[in-house]
Amino acid sequence: MIFMKLFSHIVNKNISNLRHYRKDNPFVKTWKVIAKDAPEFLGINKKKPVYPEHVDIVIIGGGFIGSATAYWLKRRAADGLSIVVLEKDITYKNIQNNISLGTLTQHFSLPENVFLSQYGTEFIRKAKENLGDDVDVQYNPSGYLVLASEKYADKLETTVTIQKEYGLKNELLTPDEINSRYPWINTKDVQLGCIGLESEGVVNSWALLKGLVQKAQQLGTIYVNAEVVGFEMEKQRDVLMEGVSPGTYEKINKVVYRTPDNEEYAIKFAACILAAGHESGEIAKLAKVGQSEGLLSIPLPIESRQYEIYSIENEAKKTGLNTPIVMDTSGLWLRRNCLEDNLLCGLVPLIRDDSKTLSKEDYYKNIIEPTLINRFPNTTGAQVLKISSELQDCNTYDDTGILGPHPYHNNLYIAAGFGKYGLHHAPGIGRAISELIIDSHYSTIDLTRLGFDRLLINEPLVEFNIY
Ligand SMILES: Cc1cc2nc3c(=O)[nH]c(=O)nc-3n(C[C@H](O)[C@H](O)[C@H](O)COP(=O)(O)OP(=O)(O)OC[C@H]3O[C@@H](n4cnc5c(N)ncnc54)[C@H](O)[C@@H]3O)c2cc1C
Repeated sequence: MIFMKLFSHIVNKNISNLRHYRKDNPFVKTWKVIAKDAPEFLGINKKKPVYPEHVDIVIIGGGFIGSATAYWLKRRAADGLSIVVLEKDITYKNIQNNISLGTLTQHFSLPENVFLSQYGTEFIRKAKENLGDDVDVQYNPSGYLVLASEKYADKLETTVTIQKEYGLKNELLTPDEINSRYPWINTKDVQLGCIGLESEGVVNSWALLKGLVQKAQQLGTIYVNAEVVGFEMEKQRDVLMEGVSPGTYEKINKVVYRTPDNEEYAIKFAACILAAGHESGEIAKLAKVGQSEGLLSIPLPIESRQYEIYSIENEAKKTGLNTPIVMDTSGLWLRRNCLEDNLLCGLVPLIRDDSKTLSKEDYYKNIIEPTLINRFPNTTGAQVLKISSELQDCNTYDDTGILGPHPYHNNLYIAAGFGKYGLHHAPGIGRAISELIIDSHYSTIDLTRLGFDRLLINEPLVEFNIY
């Protein structure tokens, strides 16, 4: 008990500082050693585990999106809906190691993403009101500067015009204006820039996740430490559906999950939300998605992409306190590491990931280093350390999130593939799913276009947030 109190104190102290990376990342080290005690700290598993046999809604994955969904469903329906979250890593040690950088941006071209990001920031700003007085997500406003090459300058200008219509406050900058504000940026091959003037910045991602999990639990969600390993289906001979031979329809009605003791249970549900991040594609296969014919012939195209994060030692002293988050024309981003004296950078993984064949050293030497030095010449000769290698969910079809019921399994709601902005959009995605389930339609932001149907009709929905 004394140990737990001490542990809580240490962890609280650590997470109360805005999340930042260190070379040796002492918090992650400590976390790894005592991860088995974490459920206690999170308030999970205080009681003997319960393995419910039926529930209204089962959510697969208790990360940002799964927990935001549980939170919203419970906030709106309270005891009217019973909700179980099946989370295979209840210590969140993988998320803790693989944690999002907590960057918030409004630079999107699809209205759906603009509105989701606006709402995400609003939710985060009011985190205490939404999640509880003890939740401090440490929102730190900061400009986000997007750079466009000649090829994309027109597109950036058009996007910014549209964004202004949606009420965003963005300012276009010429290369000279960029230079006079940020002389450490080389603008030789930059045609245009755009800086966000509000609702952008950085948040403590771990504190946000913890706040969502705790609030969802307080509202009555049950978190179960278990890995989903299958679905059970039942034949419904009277269902007639286009593309499905009469009498053959099979409805999924149970999720099979395995507990840490290697026991298997099945839970019956009315609706199931698939929010398992980069593992969602594999889990969908268990419901025959992409494994059968007709409406089940198209897979859920979610895969993982490796993401390397680097620290550029001592360089923040040169760029100064008003260093914006920079998104380069190449997809390389750079930002301050909060108030530390290093900068962080990484290259957003692409849908077509050709770099997989390169060794880590060659990836840095051939891809990162030249891009970094081209845009930020001061970094020539700087000490650059790879501080982590993380996995991101990627929709290999069009790189935009997939949201809503599956066309065959209309009680399976997909919420995955949100890639690099899943943390920021999670509050809006959770609210949207609660609308689909409780109101039977989107009532705040219309996210119909994010549905799986676009894969059926082969109409990609491409987000063009410039590089
Ligand atoms: C390096 C990096 C930086 C990022 N930076 C940002 C950023 O700055 N801003 C931003 O908005 N987003 C960022 N993201 C993206 C963001 O982290 C993701 O979009 C977000 O985590 C997606 O949330 P999720 O709930 O879908 O998935 P996750 O957070 O990955 O949660 C999925 C959960 O499902 C669980 N699960 C998986 N399989 C099973 C199973 N079979 N049974 C039970 N549970 C299962 C996992 O354990 C996990 O807890 C970043 C991501 C990475 C990797």
